Amino acid sequence: MINEQYKAMLGGKSVIRSLSEYATARGAAIGYDNVFDYSLGNPSVPCPPDYTKTVIDMYETAEPVALHGYSPSLGIPSVRETIADSLNRRFGMDYTAAHIFPTTGAAGALAHALRAVTKPGDEVITFAPYFPEYQPYVSGTGAYLTVVPADTDNFQINFDAFEAALGPQTAAVLINTPNNPSGAVYSEATLRRLAEILRARQAEYGHDIFLISDEPYREIVFDGGEQPYPSKYYDNTLSCYSWSKSLSLPGERIGYVAVNPRATDAELLVPMFGQISRGTGHNCPSSTAQLAVARVIDETSDLSVYETNMNLLYDALTSIGFDVVRPGGTFYIFPKALEDDATAFCMKAKDYDLILVPSESFGVPGYFRMAYCIDTEKVKRSIPVLERFAREVYG
Ligand code: PLP
Repeated sequence: MINEQYKAMLGGKSVIRSLSEYATARGAAIGYDNVFDYSLGNPSVPCPPDYTKTVIDMYETAEPVALHGYSPSLGIPSVRETIADSLNRRFGMDYTAAHIFPTTGAAGALAHALRAVTKPGDEVITFAPYFPEYQPYVSGTGAYLTVVPADTDNFQINFDAFEAALGPQTAAVLINTPNNPSGAVYSEATLRRLAEILRARQAEYGHDIFLISDEPYREIVFDGGEQPYPSKYYDNTLSCYSWSKSLSLPGERIGYVAVNPRATDAELLVPMFGQISRGTGHNCPSSTAQLAVARVIDETSDLSVYETNMNLLYDALTSIGFDVVRPGGTFYIFPKALEDDATAFCMKAKDYDLILVPSESFGVPGYFRMAYCIDTEKVKRSIPVLERFAREVYG
């Protein structure tokens, strides 16, 4: 007998992937240049030349048996140390290599973090709008996801709703900042208040509540700002990172979990991740990817195009009359749709070859997401089309 749970999931395919497949098919018919594909969060800028040089150098000069050998199950020690040192330098933390666990991107990081601090039947709380893959990430562990409604004024945290949702059943809180899809960057005030509430509830319930902080967009912050480091504010934090966006390496599947050294059982968590890997078949990211990112640890791709695109779109959308919160980072913008039914809105936009993602799967009705990790030239060409769509359909 095949597994009914996974079979049932076949009916719930990702809306984002379906729209992206539609955009590709439409591109084959009319030329992809003519499709304003704002569906997928795939970086549009190349990785830094230093990354490419590093990989070539490794392949040409390293001893192949050693280079391509199995990574130790908790990751390559020198790489773990390099990551710890970089985080300590940048955020004033005191990690050692023992707190760092290399993973296959943020998805792999979250798979380990969630399993280490929850058990089947526990609750994980997250905040709308949220990355839709959190549903399978959490349900795959046997825990369940509770979604706190959005604060649509600024897409920070709706604290009243959060405090009402928290309870003795809550094992972990999952945040994502800078946020996909809203582009919000949680402020220091937001992170402090979140931490205060969690500390008070831990004391009240007599058990840990872990903060799992999903940070693949950490370096994509606009206006010269920085994302305050969530783990600085709350000891029981597991920081999940990925180089998918900052180095434009989503296909390399490389990231990590960093365990706050003051977390409960901090010294056990990374070895426990190693045990979790045995069951999930994760078995470490590739050795070459680990070694290569460590050599360019403080570099990023040229991320400036995302800010250029954001400003163009934000100005255009507001002048067309959209209600939109200006993103503080990422490569997403999350305007209010021009009718209550976001899916209907996005279906109508398809007639103009504007591929927009409706917000229902992000846990907020009535909005849509645009992933503007595309050429600036295409963003510019899409603006008159957006104008025409809004005028002709919603006049
Ligand atoms: N978390 C968020 C918020 C994301 O947007 C993504 C990818 O788009 C991921 C996690 C997964 O990232 P990765 O490719 O590093 O597994």
